[in-house]
Amino acid sequence: PALTEVLPATGRVIGIDWGVKETATTTSDAHDLPHPQHGRTAAQKLARYQRMMARRRPAKGQAASKGYREAKRQTAKLHRKVAAQRQDTARKWAKKVVREHDALAVEDFRPKFLAKTTMARKAADAAISATKKALVEMARKHGRAVHLVHPAYTTMDCAKCGARTKHALPLSERMYTCTVCGAVCPRDKNSARVMLVRAGLDPAGVDLVSPATC
Ligand SMILES: [Zn+2]
Repeated sequence: PALTEVLPATGRVIGIDWGVKETATTTSDAHDLPHPQHGRTAAQKLARYQRMMARRRPAKGQAASKGYREAKRQTAKLHRKVAAQRQDTARKWAKKVVREHDALAVEDFRPKFLAKTTMARKAADAAISATKKALVEMARKHGRAVHLVHPAYTTMDCAKCGARTKHALPLSERMYTCTVCGAVCPRDKNSARVMLVRAGLDPAGVDLVSPATC
């Protein structure tokens, strides 16, 4: 096993929620990670190559055309490029998060990769998977505590008072409003804070950049 390279204590903790728009929303505004644009551009390009391949697909028993082989080669090349960029972004972000926090409460996201999901959704899932993996590896390497939090109800619970809404918020609703304690908080920020609470970490150790009502 790799040796642990212990980092100095920071006295800070962080909660992390995964998403489509932002790959990671955290309890620290300085550590939020937007979904990388290269993922989206690549998804569009990939869709174009796939249409190209479908059009040029050789008939049964026929040799593949030069155009088909070229489209196939371009697709493979693009896949490699995107994976490399994703890995690079994930590692850089993970390093910063791990260096600046003693303990991490991380949503235990499990991608579905369903055939019927959109290209954008698949790209987002791949980005989240790569980022989560890099984060957990980096944290263990540097002796930081990682708490994986089950994602059930994390979007429905109030991070402030613990009340649970009766219905799941529609995805279009970006604010979490608690009818019990009156807290109003951006939905993903509330979820990131719920991770922290569920992991039993002290919210006093987070960087409070978001509004005071949150
Ligand atoms: Zn509340």
